[in-house]
Amino acid sequence: MKILTKNDKDFLLKSIRTVEDFPKPGIDFKDITTLLGDERAYTLLMNHLKERYKNQNIDYIAGIESRGFIFGASLATMLGIKFVPIRKPGKLPYTTISEKYSLEYGVDEVEIHIDAFKCEKEKPNVLLIDDLIATGGTAKAAVNLIDKAGANCVEACFVINLKFLNGDKEIKKITPVYSVLEID
Ligand code: AMP
Repeated sequence: MKILTKNDKDFLLKSIRTVEDFPKPGIDFKDITTLLGDERAYTLLMNHLKERYKNQNIDYIAGIESRGFIFGASLATMLGIKFVPIRKPGKLPYTTISEKYSLEYGVDEVEIHIDAFKCEKEKPNVLLIDDLIATGGTAKAAVNLIDKAGANCVEACFVINLKFLNGDKEIKKITPVYSVLEID
């Protein structure tokens, strides 16, 4: 279904387990393995995303390592379109381009294959997907990377938005944002 009801959203939220103090004290980790392990929740979520994106002229789905691969690759096959992985440094075997971003302490980086969006179109349309947006740093770097690789990011999609961290506000400056579930 294109629009989820409040009941649908509550059902999806309940299917996600919160693990306190993981991977470090003070973090409430949103564990989507419990959603994946509930076939009604996983199917509801993926059918909703399919309805949202089926007529949007999207050429590729780019998923952020690693949980973005699960939702992104599932959606790509449902839509009959291509999938591209955006990975942590040193994981992709062919020539890559990369984008650095700041963490609370230090920097991190994401990479994509240089020819990831090589197709008949000059500037293909890409949907970016990840399981969760927190500060937005990873997603912002990924949108920049899609641009550097010669494609157009039409939207950044997240299953969960930790709204209190305001990461979506940063991303909205460079591309539209859609979050299925929001946590205040
Ligand atoms: P950020 O760059 O701060 O938006 O962090 C987003 C990335 O970190 C995503 O790939 C998430 O999977 C992961 N992440 C950050 N915070 C959490 C959390 N509380 N629970 C689960 N995953 C998280």
